[in-house]
Amino acid sequence: MSRRKLVVGNWKMNGMRAHLDEVEAIGKLAAQHPAVEVGLCLPATLIMAGSQLKGAAFIGAQNCHMELSGAYTGSLSAEMLIEAGATWVITGHSERRETRGETNADVAAKSVAAHAAGMKVILCVGETLAVRDAGDADEVVTAQLLASLPEGASADWLAVAYEPIWAIGTGRIPTLEAIQSMHATLRAALASRIGQEQADAMRILYGGSMNGDNAAEIIALPDVDGGLVGGASLSAAKFEPVIAAAD
Ligand code: PGA
Repeated sequence: MSRRKLVVGNWKMNGMRAHLDEVEAIGKLAAQHPAVEVGLCLPATLIMAGSQLKGAAFIGAQNCHMELSGAYTGSLSAEMLIEAGATWVITGHSERRETRGETNADVAAKSVAAHAAGMKVILCVGETLAVRDAGDADEVVTAQLLASLPEGASADWLAVAYEPIWAIGTGRIPTLEAIQSMHATLRAALASRIGQEQADAMRILYGGSMNGDNAAEIIALPDVDGGLVGGASLSAAKFEPVIAAAD
């Protein structure tokens, strides 16, 4: 089963108008690697301007509300994000699960809302270091994925990102064996829920300290279909080798 590689930058709470040149440069890089689907999940304030400069990349958001509209001060609906120019959204990032108290049910509901509005979704899962050290990572992450998987999940509009929390922004990554093993475990869990054909078609990205030095060997693993990249996506110079590694 050949799955098109997907490499997505997550700018988190970084980026001012002055950084739009990087968006433009990354859009140009994406055009040089048409075999790879390249995207940038920008802070909401840059989505509209970024989507004018995105070239061959897509622009995504980092969160959306589960309702379409209403009395939710400070929140943005999927429809609003689409109107601004985002075509993808990240749901369930650990930085929101941990600091905003997002539950698996919230993540599933946000993913359903995003899909209903016409967006594609990157659903994140991952374990803490304590869980990994206790030997429970497979069980915990599988349970998290199955509990946050939206109704009607399909490879056409959903990708999964496995992001061990202890690897995010730390410069530490699991062994290649551990990454492949977790991705294979997650694909098997997906097959049990949505069938083998859909599971085989669904992209499962790795995230957590991915950079130009380690991307090639990670993305070459059989069940790794790309990356969700934080720090190394903030400039075209740093992101270029990651995109090239997926080509
Ligand atoms: P990082 O972040 O690449 O900076 O570790 C990845 C993420 O949180 O998506």
